[in-house]
Amino acid sequence: MTESTRPSLCILIPVFNEAEALPMLVPRVLAALADVPAELRLLLVDDGSSDGSGEQLARLAAQDDRIGYLRLARNFGKEIAMSAGLDVADADAVVLLDADLQDPPEVVREFWKYFEQGYDNVYGVRSSRAGETALKKVTAAGFYRVIDRMSRTPIPRDTGDFRLLSRRAVMALRQLRERNRFMKGLFGWVGFRSIGVPYERAPRVAGTSKFNYWKLWNFALEGITSFSTAPLRLATYIGAGTAGIAFLFGAWIVFKTLAYGESVRGYPSLMVVMLFLGGVQLIALGLIGEYLGRLFEESKMRPLYLVDEVRLPRAGQSD
Ligand code: UDP
Ligand code: MG
Repeated sequence: MTESTRPSLCILIPVFNEAEALPMLVPRVLAALADVPAELRLLLVDDGSSDGSGEQLARLAAQDDRIGYLRLARNFGKEIAMSAGLDVADADAVVLLDADLQDPPEVVREFWKYFEQGYDNVYGVRSSRAGETALKKVTAAGFYRVIDRMSRTPIPRDTGDFRLLSRRAVMALRQLRERNRFMKGLFGWVGFRSIGVPYERAPRVAGTSKFNYWKLWNFALEGITSFSTAPLRLATYIGAGTAGIAFLFGAWIVFKTLAYGESVRGYPSLMVVMLFLGGVQLIALGLIGEYLGRLFEESKMRPLYLVDEVRLPRAGQSD
């Protein structure tokens, strides 16, 4: 093989406690991409796993030069793990893939065809969500609707992180260093030539989802007690609650006044207006707090992640 003429393809996989899925993952990826005319590499990012995934990665990398890994200092979350991988992935095309094989690696062959046609951002569009609960489907659908309305950045519906990015798209992403990393938004912000490829999202091969609603909710609560900006957020809820109660109270006072007359003239309207405005003011304050909190996070200028150990896939390796 003439190595210099073959473009390189790096499969970037965030891994957090996926010891059960890993033994199936790597052979399947290698088999699925065997006939793609590229220098194939696998870069697995161990996002602070505690179930032996890290040791497995080290073993895999020792056996196969095409496999490398990056171990983060602790669990930073999927978005950061992917960003860390994108920072070191040195390839003409990078594919983001979940470790649980929910994104079928066979689809990457199709991604590759579009990459060869010059596309920079080839994203998978989920045509079905097998193995996901009705609640998750409903909340996901609602989420896309809201973000679609509220954001000026184009964020394609029913897409996840599963996608192929060209080198220049990766370079662009590396420049986006914000702490609040909503990757789907960042991909959309980058732009370039993009195209969607429909695929069937499979259920997890092993293990359980790392994102459940209870966990997400607990993260929010934990934030209050640690050094987060969540107390600011509380103002939003208190404001919304006050406004809601004021509305009901107002309706009741109006009803009472109409039915029985008022004790002091002007009292009902005064009370309603006062409570309503108080509520609205608190909502606004909470909203400002949301943005202030994000500014606070950014202003600390902390690094996005810390790396514990790196063993990159050996570049220029032929199969
Ligand atoms: N993941 C990660 N860090 C985390 C949580 C998840 O790197 O803190 C990885 C996980 O190992 C998997 C991918 O992100 O490769 C998607 O996670 P999961 O399957 O749990 O999410 P779901 O598919 O349920 O949305
Ligand atoms: Mg999954």
